[in-house]
Amino acid sequence: MNQPGAGTTPVGRRPAVFLDRDGTLNRQLIREGRPYPPATLEEFILFPDVIEACARLSAAGFALVVATNQPDVGRGTQSRSVVEAMHARLRTWVPQIERVEVCYAAGRDHSAPPDPRRKPEPGMLLDASAALGLDLACSWMVGDRWRDIDCGRRAGVRTVLIDFGYAEELRAPPDFTVKSFAEAAAVILGEKGVAHLRKDRGSR
Ligand SMILES: [Mg+2]
Repeated sequence: MNQPGAGTTPVGRRPAVFLDRDGTLNRQLIREGRPYPPATLEEFILFPDVIEACARLSAAGFALVVATNQPDVGRGTQSRSVVEAMHARLRTWVPQIERVEVCYAAGRDHSAPPDPRRKPEPGMLLDASAALGLDLACSWMVGDRWRDIDCGRRAGVRTVLIDFGYAEELRAPPDFTVKSFAEAAAVILGEKGVAHLRKDRGSR
């Protein structure tokens, strides 16, 4: 998927939209106010506005890159082959996705240094940027949890939170807060008439 010559000069660098997976592109499972990833291929279902919104972002010149933590693989409660099958299906549904970055680290050993690719660390975004020749300063991160927002900030991209009202606190404020993926795309595309979005920086 790499474009020949992409990234060889700053002039050729493209902006990207980095996309969290669960609760951003596909439906999450919510139990007691907290989100969980789908466990099976049958449970892996896109939100209805994702296919069209991704096509619009791509048509506007944004590279689309998924960046997802899948710690259940590292914890032994999900199989990597199921996650890979979900991503194969995702790329069939949304062919504009150029790259899928996955971190399988369990993330439970707090005595060890954090995995540089596990959100909120920015490694997945930085790796994709190097591979595809991306312009991070003109790029965005869309996600539904604090790890996505902190990851985006650490990578130097603007951030959009899709707010489901989970029972968890943000650590840092997103640049924008919206209620759906279509609204996130409208913010990124600078479209008017998204009257109900609110700019959150500095308000939390
Ligand atoms: Mg998520």
